Amino acid sequence: MSAPLPPINHHWISVRNHHRSFADFAFVYPVISRRSRGLSLGINLNPNKRCNFDCIYCEVDRFTPGKAGEINVPQMRAELTALIRLAKSGELGRQPKFLEAAELTRDIRDLAFSGDGEPTMIHNFAECVQAVADIKRAEALDPTSIVLITDAAGLDKTDVKRGLEIMDANQGEIWGKLDAGTEAYYRQVNRSFIRFDRILSNLLETARVRPIVIQTLLLKVRQEIMPPGELAAYCQRLIDLVRQGGQIKEIHAYTVARPTPETYATRLEPQALHALAEQIRQATGLKVSEFA
Ligand code: SF4
Repeated sequence: MSAPLPPINHHWISVRNHHRSFADFAFVYPVISRRSRGLSLGINLNPNKRCNFDCIYCEVDRFTPGKAGEINVPQMRAELTALIRLAKSGELGRQPKFLEAAELTRDIRDLAFSGDGEPTMIHNFAECVQAVADIKRAEALDPTSIVLITDAAGLDKTDVKRGLEIMDANQGEIWGKLDAGTEAYYRQVNRSFIRFDRILSNLLETARVRPIVIQTLLLKVRQEIMPPGELAAYCQRLIDLVRQGGQIKEIHAYTVARPTPETYATRLEPQALHALAEQIRQATGLKVSEFA
């Protein structure tokens, strides 16, 4: 059995600074992620910063052009292999950003499709998943997960479904976004042109095939926390997902950690996040992990 992990301090630079740039790399970056519970190697499939959501809390800097247009798979493979080796050798832990968390940097918790946009929007998602699975095997990262952080809008695409199957065979984990219980709140917070019922049906279809994590960002909008009616509707969505055969491993309840594009979108205090998380637990009976 592996040793218990040390607590991850919210104030560490490596936790607070999730800039998606490392050395000269264009597609791969290391972070200490509280939700990953340690070192996560992010794979930015959207260097062009394309997303089909426009969340009021999005931390992506959309004023600075991206480093590249599209993902270059051979380069991504080379960068990921190099970064894995830097982590395993201990060299990553000697970088200034990681000095406070050096002991966490040798254990690669996950390889995460995340980054500056929505990973399921690219045309060759399955090819990218296969490349990462091949590297994971070649580098003997057996317990390391492959995580997809997604807004769920593209989970019904044929190529994406093929990618999810490859993930399933390689410690895959899907973290699907659900920030609202009603179409109105979804439009206010996520500002997407995609219908809310498509997001819900994608989450359901995906969770019918394998257990998924639901990631929910809770925040204050113009000083107001999620209203009780919205919270009840959100909980009902989760209950409906489970009733219809969706498997939910856990909920990640988290809040704003970095500057937002809309100044009226602000973080919840830990007590407020805890109170909402507790209500979700009580209403749904699901496991809720809090990241204040
Ligand atoms: S889904 Fe993610 S990348 Fe897209 S706008 Fe929302 S927070 Fe930003």
